[in-house]
Amino acid sequence: MATKFSQKTNEKKNNRVPSVDLDLIAEGVRLIIKGIGEDPERAGLQETPRRVAEMYEELTSGMREDPQQHVVPLKGDKHDEMVIVKDISIASLCEHHLAPFVGKCHIAYIPKGGRILGISKLARLAETFSRRLQLQERLTTDIANTLFEGLKPLGVMVVIEAEHTCMTLRGVRKADAKTVTSAVLGGFRTDPRTRSEAMSLIKGRE
Ligand SMILES: [Zn+2]
Repeated sequence: MATKFSQKTNEKKNNRVPSVDLDLIAEGVRLIIKGIGEDPERAGLQETPRRVAEMYEELTSGMREDPQQHVVPLKGDKHDEMVIVKDISIASLCEHHLAPFVGKCHIAYIPKGGRILGISKLARLAETFSRRLQLQERLTTDIANTLFEGLKPLGVMVVIEAEHTCMTLRGVRKADAKTVTSAVLGGFRTDPRTRSEAMSLIKGRE
């Protein structure tokens, strides 16, 4: 048993979510290996439970982060025109299968009072929500709502295109199927022209 694990667990300030129990995950992975009829003591598999446990710790690290910490307006810089950040890479875990879904997140917003966010902060916001057990629909609305509440812009639109491995690797096996979800708030919701402007900028590929 890999008892040394316990020291590495995450003690973060956020008390609402307990820290990751790597030993418990590793135990579960050993059971999966046994359950499929493999031998967890086989040389190639001995370290697998530990590796998988560490992978899940990383892929769920967003559970122990406060997304609002990324929504801090840039000091001094003011801008009132629409801002669009395209093609933010996201990797998340589908909560129905614990299988990864990967894709691109596009975020558009119309600033109010000149308040804008650094581009890296938008990416960090998307990452914090991605690194949890998710549904693509909820991931999309979580990012949009947090940005809308934190930055108080005139409008927010978030579009995510993703490939779900639970769909592409098994079952119906639609190899290239992409799921597209969007969340539209404020001015983007009430003004169809602004919305379609943002959409065509998001879809436009250089
Ligand atoms: Zn799934």
